[in-house]
Amino acid sequence: MIYLDHNATTPLDPRVLAAMMPYWRENWGNPSSSYRFGVEARTAVEKARKRVAELIGGKPSEIIFTSGGTESDNLAVRGAAQSLKSRGNHIVTTSIEHHAVLNTCKALEAQGFRVTYLPVNQAGFVEPDILAKSLTPQTILITIMHANNETGVIQPVEEIAKIAKAKGIVFHTDAVQTAGKLPGRLAALGADLISMSAHKFYGPKGTGVLYVKEGAVLVPVLTGGSHERGLRAGTENVAGTVGLAEALALAYGACQSESLRLKELRDRLEARIRKEIPGVKIVGGSARRVPNTSSLAFENVDGEAVVLGLDLKGICASTGSACSTAEPEPSHVLRAMGLAPRQAQGAVRVSLGKDTRYEDIEAAAGVLIETVGRLRLISSAR
Ligand code: PLP
Repeated sequence: MIYLDHNATTPLDPRVLAAMMPYWRENWGNPSSSYRFGVEARTAVEKARKRVAELIGGKPSEIIFTSGGTESDNLAVRGAAQSLKSRGNHIVTTSIEHHAVLNTCKALEAQGFRVTYLPVNQAGFVEPDILAKSLTPQTILITIMHANNETGVIQPVEEIAKIAKAKGIVFHTDAVQTAGKLPGRLAALGADLISMSAHKFYGPKGTGVLYVKEGAVLVPVLTGGSHERGLRAGTENVAGTVGLAEALALAYGACQSESLRLKELRDRLEARIRKEIPGVKIVGGSARRVPNTSSLAFENVDGEAVVLGLDLKGICASTGSACSTAEPEPSHVLRAMGLAPRQAQGAVRVSLGKDTRYEDIEAAAGVLIETVGRLRLISSAR
């Protein structure tokens, strides 16, 4: 199998599994228990929190462990909206967010909040000027992703953070597709709230982080005990937090060299596809992107058929985000970038990872060239 869908999920790194194992097998204590067995589990969680804080340039008290990206996004967006509703009811986001943010905003609209969904330009990013113009005295929250999961396009988050700060508006960024993938400390972006998810950086599924900058006040989504500073009730996933911290440390340790390596491989793939397949658009190709992601929109072919053709040859890729492949509608992200429905329907996302080698890229390019050619022949003969 050649796995080229790392934006959907990544395999658990064996070193991460080894770090987690003792907390399933030997020390399975409850971190809230006061006897030594529990205290040892608490120590592991707090050590993981400290490691994550150091890796992203925050404080341990700013790290809230969650069950993943979706929960972090929910806690950030719902939590901030609820806590700030006496100040205003306006939220600003973009039309290219992940459904974890988009559908949360829709749910808040049903509760009386007003949401502005900003457009993106053809390159796939939000223009800070347009964002600035959308703000009103009622605006309480801006939620804009760091990089898009389908195209890899990086949003001008630092600039957005400055605009938000100048107006005293809380800013959340979904960094699920950049944590461990881009060099630099995430907290330095200047956002008040930052979402991360371990299974995107070779950590365990079902674990995530919400960075909550000191001073940001949230209303919890889950109520119960006083775990995670009262922001996320429930017995901690001890092995999960240990695994998340280990995975993030490994990802950041390799990040600099991996970024360069993956960019080279991705560029090689795109150069071959451009040369050998007519009628293809590299979506977001002119923008700054995460180095592992390529969104290829093929004319006169159905992306889903291409993905199935690749699967027959043992290659895993996707048409867009894994969560929306069940939807027949073309990607909301590509539509927002100005692609016609038919063009968006022909999109295939390829996302590389730490085990991707040059030979994999060559093989995948060959199968893509053959599959797109064959599918086009079939449809032209109809
Ligand atoms: N946000 C983005 C940008 C994502 O790509 C994903 C997952 O694909 C999520 C949020 C949801 O994360 P999780 O799968 O951990 O719930």
